[in-house]
Order: sequence, then C-alpha cells, then structure tokens
Amino acid sequence: MPDSPLIRKLLSMSKEIYLDGNATTCVLPAAIDAAVQAMRDCFGNPSSTHATGLKAKAMMDTVRQRARRLLGVGAGRIMFNSGATEGIQTAVLSALCELRERRERGEAIGSLLVYGATEHKAVPEALAHWNRLLGLDLELKKLPVDGDGRHDLAALRALAPQAAFVCTMAANNETGVVSDLAGISATLVGSKALWMVDCVQGLGKLPLDLGNTRIDYAPFSGHKLYAPKGIGMLYVREGAPYTPLVMGGGQEAGLRSGTENMAGIAALGAVLAALEEGGTFRSPVELHGFREKLAGSLRAAFPGIVFNAPFDKALPTTLNFSVPGLSSKELLDVFDAANVRVSAGSACSAAKAAPSYVLDAMGLPAWRSSSAVRMSFGPLASEEIINEACARIERCGKALRDAGLMDTPVSGAVVPEGVLQLSLAGNHTWLLLDEPSRQCIAIDHQAELAERIDSLLRSHGYQLAARLSTRDGGAGTDSFAFGAHTLRRVALDSGRSAYLLCRGDKVEYAFTGLAALSDLAGKVPADALVCPGREEMNACCTSLRAEAQGSVAGTDLNLDSIALARLLQAHPQAVLVDVRESYEQAACIPGGRAAESVPLSRLAAFVPGWLEAVDQQPLVFFCRSGNRSAKAAQCLRRLGYRNAYSLAGGVALASPALALAA
Ligand code: PLP
Repeated sequence: MPDSPLIRKLLSMSKEIYLDGNATTCVLPAAIDAAVQAMRDCFGNPSSTHATGLKAKAMMDTVRQRARRLLGVGAGRIMFNSGATEGIQTAVLSALCELRERRERGEAIGSLLVYGATEHKAVPEALAHWNRLLGLDLELKKLPVDGDGRHDLAALRALAPQAAFVCTMAANNETGVVSDLAGISATLVGSKALWMVDCVQGLGKLPLDLGNTRIDYAPFSGHKLYAPKGIGMLYVREGAPYTPLVMGGGQEAGLRSGTENMAGIAALGAVLAALEEGGTFRSPVELHGFREKLAGSLRAAFPGIVFNAPFDKALPTTLNFSVPGLSSKELLDVFDAANVRVSAGSACSAAKAAPSYVLDAMGLPAWRSSSAVRMSFGPLASEEIINEACARIERCGKALRDAGLMDTPVSGAVVPEGVLQLSLAGNHTWLLLDEPSRQCIAIDHQAELAERIDSLLRSHGYQLAARLSTRDGGAGTDSFAFGAHTLRRVALDSGRSAYLLCRGDKVEYAFTGLAALSDLAGKVPADALVCPGREEMNACCTSLRAEAQGSVAGTDLNLDSIALARLLQAHPQAVLVDVRESYEQAACIPGGRAAESVPLSRLAAFVPGWLEAVDQQPLVFFCRSGNRSAKAAQCLRRLGYRNAYSLAGGVALASPALALAA
C-alpha cells in the first residue's frame, strides 16, 4: 500500500523541516546548477587573458553588475570575498588604518569605537583585534539597545562627538529586529565617524539602496541566502578609505588578492538573479502570513509562550521565543526529535547553552535570555513546509504536556514510577515514585528544580511526601515504609547520610549524595545500585563491586551503522533501547525497528531487571547524538552487563541504520 494516506503521512513527517535559516540556508537548486556549470564549463581563471579566462571574467562581471543594481551601490565598489567575517575584518582594518593615519597627521579622530550591543561577535572581536594590532588604543564602546532591540539613538547622539568608527547591523541574527538605519544616519549628521553596517541578515529581506546612504562599509554573506558557504561580498562607499586585508596577485582590482571563488560567485549570481527577476522568493506579505501561522501554532502548543522581539519591528522570517518552565535544550531536543531544526539563541553559542547576550542587552529577564529558541526561515519557504512545521510544533507541545513538563493534567500518558533522576548543572536530584499510593520522596531536592518537580508530580497526580537530604547528618539509622519498600537512613563517617531503598532484606538502591565511595564501605552492600549526587561521580548509577573492579567499557562500546547491522544480524534478539526523554520519543516520527523506551533519567529503574535477566541479550542504546546512549552503555558494562552498546552519532547520524534495522 505505497500510496496509503498513512504511508504518505509518515513519509512527509520524516522529512526534515529546516527552520534555522539565520544560521545558514540550503543552496538554491539554480545556484547548485550555476556552481556546477562554472566548475565544468567556465573553469577559467578570470585574470587570464585568453578566451577561457575572458569567459570566466564575463561571468564574474555579470554577477557583480547584478549585485551593484540590487544593492544600489551607485559609484561605490563591490568585491567578492569569503563571507561576512572577512568583510567585517576588511572594513574594520580599513577604518582603523585610516584613523591611525588621520591621527598621525594631527587630526582629531575621536576616542571611541562604537558598536551595537547586539552585533554579531565578529564585530567586537575584529574591533578589539585590529585596535590592538594597530596600536590605536581607542576605547571600544557598546551602544545600548532599547527593550525592542533597537539602537538607543539618544545614547548614540551622546557618543557621536567622540565616535571614530560606528558599527551597527541591518537586522539582528537572533531576533530579526530591523535597525532604524535612517535614524542612525540622522544621528550621525555632523560626525566624522566612519560607519559600517553588517547587512548579512538583510540581504533579500530588506530594501537596500546603499549608494544613497552614508554607510561606508557593508558586508554580506552568501550562505545566509541560498548561496554556498565561502562566498560573500563587501560594499565600500566611493571615497571611503580602504586597506586590503589580503595582498598578492592584485585580483578584485587590487582590493582583495587571491584567485576568485568562481563556483561560489556563480552560485551567488544565481541567487541574485532570482532576487532581481522575481518569481522564486516569497513576497513580504506571504512571509508575514507564514510567521502568523507559526506563531499561532506555537501559542497553541506552548501556553504561556513569550516572543522576545516585537513582530512589527522584526524580519517576518525570525521568531525568537521562550516558554516558562522549559529550557532551550528541552525545546531543541523535542523539535529535533520531530525533525524540526531550530536553534538556541545564536548558532555560535548554542553548544555552550549560555544566556543570549542579545536578549540580555534588551534587558529581558534572565530566564527568557537563557531559555530562548530561535526559529528562522528564508524567503524560499512554502505554504506546505510551514503547514507541516505547524503540525509538528503542535505534536511537540503535546509531547511535552504529556510528559508533565507544562503543568497541565496528563491523561493517557505513561505514569513514571520507581526511581527517577533529575539533573541540573551536574547535580542529581532523585525522585522515588510509588505508583499505587502516588507518593513521592525527593532526595537532594534542588531549589532550582522545584517548579519542574511540582509540575511533574501534579501532572501525574503524585504528592511530594518528603524531601530528604544526604547533607543532613544524625547518629544511628531511621527507617520508614514507602509503598512496598522500606527507606533506611544510615549515618556516614563524614557526618552525612545515605538513604537505602530496601525490598525485604535486599538493599536495591543507595542514594549517597556527595559521599566518597570509601565512605560507603560497610554501610552499603556491594551489589546495591549506588545513585550518587553529582554527574562526575557517575552519570547514572553504579555499585561498590563495580567500582572496585574498575573500568570495563571496552573498545567495542560504540557501534557505527555497519557494526549495528552486523550485530543485529548475528543477534536477532538484540534489543534497541531509546534513552531519549519521553517527550522526545513522543514527538519523533514512528518507523524502523521497535525500540524499548527507557529515558536516561529512568535508567536506574530498569538496571536491576536487565542485570537479573538470565540471557543477557545485546542491548543497543541510542539517543539524539550518542552522548546519553554512551553513558547508559557504560553504566551497564561497569555493572557487569557485557553486551551493552551505544549507537555512535545517535539518531542524528544513524537514523537510516535504525530504519534498516526494522
Ligand atoms: N554577521 C551576522 C549578522 C551574522 O548572522 C553572521 C553569521 O552568523 C555573520 C556576521 C558572520 O557571517 P559568516 O559566518 O558568513 O562569515
């Protein structure tokens, strides 16, 4: 039934929906064709004087002419380079060399290098670098922005008399906020400051008529608008000072040496042609409609959502938002599971999960700045893609609600029971959940997790019966019944406590907080599962026996796709275990071989069952990127389960392998 509605739905859902256009875009098919053609048929060196070279030069000139028309550069210059970071360097170097010369001539140049507080990092970094290298010793001065993300013009007015160089942007990459360039220009009237405007996010989205402005430098990057990475342009106003960053063969009229990236220029030319000729990209009205649709779905999926930039002052292609109670990592994970690619704040800082300096500069509360998500699309978006994105956003909202993360009553979802680990900044809180009585005990409850724990418990109908801390001391032992278990406190020599969860005489789990393993000897049985209080002691759980035996991870722990296929062929009974959180599993597209669901936060609850199994079948853990699954597999191997593996690269790299494993 290849044409059944279900199959069609599954096929459409498994398609990647790429909503990270401000980080980079795909390459326009016409741009790919143009690049291929340039490499195959027009491969000449544009500096060569023979016919092959002339053909290449003609192609390059055509693209340059198109850029000149589109950007309205008038008598200014356009040069091709590798991208905006290079363009920014060149502009900064040119401006600072000029300032140095003016100062050497005895002219007053001002003392400030002014840059917008929300500029891309390339700007302040380049300013600091060249200021130091050129020995200018000017003061870098951040120009504040208002609550909407726009430059504070009153502050600029105050700085203008001392400003030597001013750097602002056309539109912000994190929020899409469009700068008031006319306002900035008016504020700079009478100032001799040079002015750079980073136009990277404006190309194809904002009308630019550079020759009719006092802007001295404007860098552009091809890959933000459907051209490949590694090609960019720099506009330099007629008469603006210029110092080449790269010297050599004198290409680009001596402005930027090095044989030109002809494939990149051809591809950029195809994008510029699409812009100039129309018919390829969506109109502003359509783009506004797309944003409304996405915003509507986001509001329905995440009640309480706040948008971090005013729509009427931002590009319609960028939505930046925060959801109370949800971290950007959780939102990114759930979107990624649904094959929707978004980013946290800016792509550059995503790996660090740092608060966004852009949102901080706008004065937004810390929780909004540290949990922000950016959803951005390009003018190539289609109704079909946006509709599919909306459907998946709603699926993600439901997945998070069903997991009890949004403080709404949950019905029909799996109720967590047993032992559950919540982690924040490397500290573990352990929840003991007794399903029959719906009572919960929290061990080492962290204040920062209070809302999360309350919401989780309320949503699933649990009550928090007690909070216990391993930091508390006290002589002797106390014990009390907890469902079918007994919970016993034992005093440790360090003055802290450990809590033992026992079934009959058997100690199943020991919650040991920050206690060193040596502190537990004689207090905790060798095979009890030790659940520590910090990640570096153990990501999941361990036992005194396992720790005494040392590491047994082995070199075959990580499987690539080929090794996975071999293993599954040799062991058809092998079990795939999805250790992503329940909301990621619920959001993801079904298909492929059936997998057991054991979120990493609940691994400790499942470990005893696996260890007790008579036939220890291979367990292949997988997650989004391979980090969590490696932790799970290491945990099991350490505890003596030899047949535990992790799928290297996770679903991100190996999803076809998982599908083939069906
Ligand atoms: N400026 C802005 C506003 C950007 O968004 C970016 C890329 O993220 C850059 C500069 C740097 O561009 P590239 O990485 O192409 O050099």
